[in-house]
Amino acid sequence: MPLLELSHVSKSYQEPGGGPVVAVLQDVCLSVEPAESLAIVGPSGCGKSTLLNILGTLDTPDKGSYHFEGRDISSLGTAELAAMRSEKIGFIFQLHHLMPQCSVLENVMLPTLAMRQRDPSARARAESLLAAVGLADRLNWRPAQLSGGERQRVAVVRALINQPRLILADEPTGALDEQNAEMLTSLLLELQHSTGVSLVMVTHQPAQAARMGRVLRIHQGVLN
Ligand code: ADP
Ligand code: MG
Repeated sequence: MPLLELSHVSKSYQEPGGGPVVAVLQDVCLSVEPAESLAIVGPSGCGKSTLLNILGTLDTPDKGSYHFEGRDISSLGTAELAAMRSEKIGFIFQLHHLMPQCSVLENVMLPTLAMRQRDPSARARAESLLAAVGLADRLNWRPAQLSGGERQRVAVVRALINQPRLILADEPTGALDEQNAEMLTSLLLELQHSTGVSLVMVTHQPAQAARMGRVLRIHQGVLN
């Protein structure tokens, strides 16, 4: 069974001020298998973030269906959906969105507070993941004391802390220099490989996209 399946999904937005309705995604079909890595590429404004938001259940399709682990997402209530999202999906964005007043360790632990049941092994997992990304001696530092590359590594650990089935990364290397971008992609792929999580990464950088198992392109609303 695929991890997730979008079937004939369309999404439109009305331009602000009552302007025309713009079709962003048209008849998108996408199936993602457990433990696979996938890049989504395409020009700015083509709908990459819209697609990731739908995959992350932060937005809903106008038409078509979305199944995650075989369950029809549209059949879930708000609370059930929020619980599913925090347990199964990790998000990484272009900017880290770390809490400035929290330490590295606290930032990584935050998503565990949203879990239905407290996970007593979460702290040990946080420390071990932070060590695995080379931040063992930064646990009590604040985000402002870290480099851009280090902050993104914290964001990667935060996305993995609840042991999700899916990581959605929206241009995670977009704000990094080439060397740090390279390192972050390597890290994501290593963790994807070792944990068996599926990774869907939007990127503008062809060199990063080419390292994923599969590359799909959005062109004029169509994914292929
Ligand atoms: P990308 O991530 O590929 O740059 P997006 O998915 O963010 O593109 O946006 C695709 C198109 O949809 C853009 O034209 C954008 O202006 C429009 N759009 C995105 N979100 C909204 C929204 N909430 N309301 C209206 N238009 C939107
Ligand atoms: Mg975007």
